[in-house]
Amino acid sequence: MSRVAYVNGAYRPLSQASVSIEDRGYQFADAIYEVWAVRGGRLLDLDGHLTRLARSLRAIGIDSPMSDASLLAVAAETVRRNRVRDGLVYLQISRGVAPRDHAFPDPPVRPSVIVVAKPADMKAIEARARVGIAVITAPDQRWARCDIKSVGLLPNVLAKQAAREAGAFEAWLVDEAGKVTEGTSSNAWIIDAEGRLRTPPLSKNILAGVTRAALLRIAEAHQIPVLEQGFTVEEAHHAREAFISSASAGALAVVSIDGHVVGDGAPGPVAQLLRDAYFGAPDPPG
Ligand code: PLP
Repeated sequence: MSRVAYVNGAYRPLSQASVSIEDRGYQFADAIYEVWAVRGGRLLDLDGHLTRLARSLRAIGIDSPMSDASLLAVAAETVRRNRVRDGLVYLQISRGVAPRDHAFPDPPVRPSVIVVAKPADMKAIEARARVGIAVITAPDQRWARCDIKSVGLLPNVLAKQAAREAGAFEAWLVDEAGKVTEGTSSNAWIIDAEGRLRTPPLSKNILAGVTRAALLRIAEAHQIPVLEQGFTVEEAHHAREAFISSASAGALAVVSIDGHVVGDGAPGPVAQLLRDAYFGAPDPPG
């Protein structure tokens, strides 16, 4: 079955789905995006991602080109046409197409909207969750508005590639004070030596993960002590547990940081509890 994408009002085979070379997303990364996990054909954390989408659009001065209801209808139809049961939906909105000039087009042009849906390899995902992942650390070389979900992701791309080349799944970005901000496409968490669940506080230096918010609610419901406070790489090395969170990964245990084994080197109980509560417990292997 060939994949289908939504582009500016039409559903097209992926091979024919395109935008202009003068799209400002292409030329300036003048665009924002959202990603929803799809489980059982349904989008998880629907409202949290819509709220963040609206915030990102406002932050860069793009008027929302579609109502939430229309966006959801498009997302659902893209999921249906691609027969995605478990996977993700990617939505991108750019400022639109205009002759190249840094300033906004005046008068404004119609924003470009694209939506794609793709299935996930659930066997591989569950296998990865059972053993946990390795992360490396890398300097955080991003801009000062990491709270905006912008498609300007080059520093993230380079750090993720460094992770892959080191045999790791993710890179944790480290600020000038030596503290972990977040991953290249995930938020960062530890269970510290005192047994507290720790993740950096919301600021312009990190993306307000929708999964992060969901995990904080789950932790509260399970009376797990939480501290929204940053941690150093050194503290992470000595943590009882570590994990990442994102729409696609849920809560995913980190068992090695720059080659230092975390805890006993296997996914820990808190990460597992949060993962199961977020996604629903997986089927047993075999
Ligand atoms: N931080 C960054 C830099 C991300 O790119 C992402 C997701 O793509 C996240 C955090 C996690 O956000 P969410 O849980 O909303 O997927």
